[in-house]
Amino acid sequence: MAWQRTIPFGYRMRQGEIECNAAEAAAVKDVFARYLQGESLQRIAEALTAQGVRYHQHTDCWNKNMVKRILENTHYLGDEQYPRVIDEKDYLTAQTLKEDRNSYAPCIVDMKIRAKAVCARCGARFRRIVKNRKTARWECENPACGYMLHISDEQLSAAVNALLERLANTPEVLTPRVPTSPVTSGSAQRIANELTNALNRGTESEVYLRTLIFACAAERYNELPDGSLQHKTDKLRQRMEAGETLPAELLETAVRSIRVADPDNIDLELVNGQRIGKEAADV
Ligand SMILES: [Zn+2]
Repeated sequence: MAWQRTIPFGYRMRQGEIECNAAEAAAVKDVFARYLQGESLQRIAEALTAQGVRYHQHTDCWNKNMVKRILENTHYLGDEQYPRVIDEKDYLTAQTLKEDRNSYAPCIVDMKIRAKAVCARCGARFRRIVKNRKTARWECENPACGYMLHISDEQLSAAVNALLERLANTPEVLTPRVPTSPVTSGSAQRIANELTNALNRGTESEVYLRTLIFACAAERYNELPDGSLQHKTDKLRQRMEAGETLPAELLETAVRSIRVADPDNIDLELVNGQRIGKEAADV
């Protein structure tokens, strides 16, 4: 009897066709949701074991590798043979998180901060490399730039929170403004980089490459002046003017990127092109 499953977890064969196995597909969605919320592979494995979901017939005990295989399985994006289980955005986010998670040290820098951190010198994604929280090392993802910086998680969180507080006290800066130059967002850049890497590896499936290309195009499209985004920030500004403080929502909606130059020079670039930070304070 084979110990490997012949059909990927989440699917089953019926009359010669592969279809979703409802219970397993729900577990796959749960794995992605938990992972995107920051749970470790080990914790997800424990949760699945506790839920009594079986990976294969021989055991109901999950391990980290089974969870990892699920996060890496491109079939969940859907193709000619397999129905879609996970949407592209979640799948891609999980892939970009994976490299950052090979660590035992807890990460106290909020995922939202990490998702928006960019190198202040060149605008490429800024990645947290060494996860010792006292001296976390960050590196620019752009090899041509290679900027590197040590900043503790506490310092970075404190700096970003102080800027968010300032933003909350000056909601008028969220007033729409026509951007002076097109900006490439961190996430479009990130996907473009992954596409280059995937093409270089030469071993990726066509589905995965196609997904990256579409996702990159979608991100760039999102950077076009967007009425709904303006509407969202307008709403947010109105709520702030009415006295609400919304740091998490502010970061999510109003901040395009966190530009990190050094511990004393961190700026927030807002979706309307305005900056909040040292430079902005001098203007
Ligand atoms: Zn850089």
